[in-house]
Amino acid sequence: MHQRWILFVLLLDADPRDPGCDAARAVVHVYVDELRAGIDAPTRNPGAADHFVACDACRQVLQGLVATAATHDRASHDP
Ligand SMILES: [Zn+2]
Repeated sequence: MHQRWILFVLLLDADPRDPGCDAARAVVHVYVDELRAGIDAPTRNPGAADHFVACDACRQVLQGLVATAATHDRASHDP
């Protein structure tokens, strides 16, 4: 009984909106496109936004895609 209670508390501690790595990575390209388009991606994808804050690995994927997109934007604007 005591162990069940500890498991229950641990489950409560997890953010219920956080969809996990697989779900966050499924939308990361859309998320970057929305950011680039000036759309409020965190409001449109609150679960993914929470996950990018909580998960270092997924945040690095997001930051890498943003950096790649920014480089591409600069290249396409240069003559
Ligand atoms: Zn993750």
